[in-house]
Amino acid sequence: MRISDILRVKGERVVTVAPGADVTELLGVLAEHKIGAVIVSSDGGRVEGIVSERDIVRALAARGAAVLSEPVTAIATTQVRSVSRDAALVDVERLMTEWRFRHVPVVEDGRLQGVVSIGDVVKFRIDELEHERTSLAEYITGERA
Ligand code: AMP
Repeated sequence: MRISDILRVKGERVVTVAPGADVTELLGVLAEHKIGAVIVSSDGGRVEGIVSERDIVRALAARGAAVLSEPVTAIATTQVRSVSRDAALVDVERLMTEWRFRHVPVVEDGRLQGVVSIGDVVKFRIDELEHERTSLAEYITGERA
């Protein structure tokens, strides 16, 4: 299984935020799209950072409400780990587990192609297991569900 299999199902739409946006605008973007992280990008294609709800929580705990008027770049992670479309799903699961993050941008030729979240990965694995279970049941009983 490859990352491209997930993107094919979930689509390639990616939500980005400009580096100059402030944290209050970021909150609006996360709430509007019902997502937990957003890619920081000036042009919607080049990944300049990633900022997740955890970054907001940490910054609020450390510096209080003043954070809300800071630019997203003040709290974003700039050393972003990305994967290519042909990355094996199992390697991306390992990456997320090892580095303890729940989002990975998919980048090809320096351009953003999608974002895969831990929720996408879990959904994909559950669908896969259900498919296997049905196939095995059919094989054993000789009946189609
Ligand atoms: P998350 O679990 O994705 O909400 O993110 C946890 C922390 O890891 C936050 O500080 C994020 O900015 C950072 N982070 C999330 N995704 C990535 C990534 N692909 N590469 C590097 N850091 C990330």
